[in-house]
Amino acid sequence: MARHRTTRGRTAFTPTQASKRARGTHRLPGGRVSTVGRIAVAAVAAGAIVGTAALHTAPGVVEVGVSPLANGVDLAAVFAPHRDATSAAPQPIVTTRPADPAAEAGKLAKAAQLTADSLAKAAEEKAAADKTAADKAAADKAAAELAARAKVVKPTEGTFTSGFGSRWGSMHYGIDLANAIGTPIVSVADGVVVEAGPASGFGLWVRVQHNDGTITVYGHVNETLVQQGQQVRAGQEIATLGNRGESTGPHLHFEVWLHGSAAEKIDPLPWLAERGVAIS
Ligand SMILES: [Zn+2]
Repeated sequence: MARHRTTRGRTAFTPTQASKRARGTHRLPGGRVSTVGRIAVAAVAAGAIVGTAALHTAPGVVEVGVSPLANGVDLAAVFAPHRDATSAAPQPIVTTRPADPAAEAGKLAKAAQLTADSLAKAAEEKAAADKTAADKAAADKAAAELAARAKVVKPTEGTFTSGFGSRWGSMHYGIDLANAIGTPIVSVADGVVVEAGPASGFGLWVRVQHNDGTITVYGHVNETLVQQGQQVRAGQEIATLGNRGESTGPHLHFEVWLHGSAAEKIDPLPWLAERGVAIS
């Protein structure tokens, strides 16, 4: 009791704010018991306030319990038995907490929502862009296929009798398509007639240069139906099938010269196939 009395002069102790408040509020008994009580209450008040704050009704205290780390719930359970000891002394400690966890949590939630919104918007924009690109690619492909089909056709109807390559000890630079004399021969693509007339070995021939520079050659023809410099369209008849020149029977001899060069004769079959024309 004597010790309790001396504290009134505030010389024997330098009690913390929390212990003073707790002692004053709870009217703890004096002596050693009161000292232990002060320490216990101070410890509980300092540590438990965070955990138990959510259980209190005072507005300033409730905010403390709303922590982004969500520690409040667990601590509340741990310190639940001391609720009476701490409920009366929360204010001094509460006011020392600088941050407003509720506001911080709100900011975090808002930021998270903004991030989610921006991600969703970006995903939508990407999907739209992908769809546009896919649509454009599909349209381009369809247009290219249509253009290829429209621009390149078979030079004539006939039986494939000889292919590009070495034959009988010499090079055969084209393909042969056999059919009856007089069968129509057409230009395989749009272009300009660069030659129509006699040709060594071919009797008569027609050569057409196309827009990309490629020249197609039609040999052994029976008669020519176009003149040099004439514009022709794909599928337009330019000659009739014949048996002139060094020929073993009525057929069309067809060649493809890349870049319009006689030195760049290529196999016509893959060239035609790449343009959608199959020869069988
Ligand atoms: Zn031939």
